[in-house]
Amino acid sequence: MARKSSLAVEAAPRCTRCGSERIVKNGKNVCGHQQFRCRACGACRVLRPKSRETAPERKNEVLRAVATERLSLRAAERVFGVARHTISRWLEKKPQPAHR
Ligand SMILES: [Zn+2]
Repeated sequence: MARKSSLAVEAAPRCTRCGSERIVKNGKNVCGHQQFRCRACGACRVLRPKSRETAPERKNEVLRAVATERLSLRAAERVFGVARHTISRWLEKKPQPAHR
């Protein structure tokens, strides 16, 4: 009689980078999503059940608002519904011309 333990078998999530199943929970991020860490490759990230990539147009819209309207990240978070953590990541990826 095969009795599955619902505690041990929790949908067996996999690492999105190397595909390993040896991942452990690693707390939660700002928006409350469960984060995982892969013990095989060391990747540390949120596993997204459904991929939710932000459309480039929307991304630009948010970044433009932050840059031109001098919107704070928290304000942008409220207005656009995008986590400020995400926005700051976008800002880091998009190096702005240093003028100061
Ligand atoms: Zn991995």
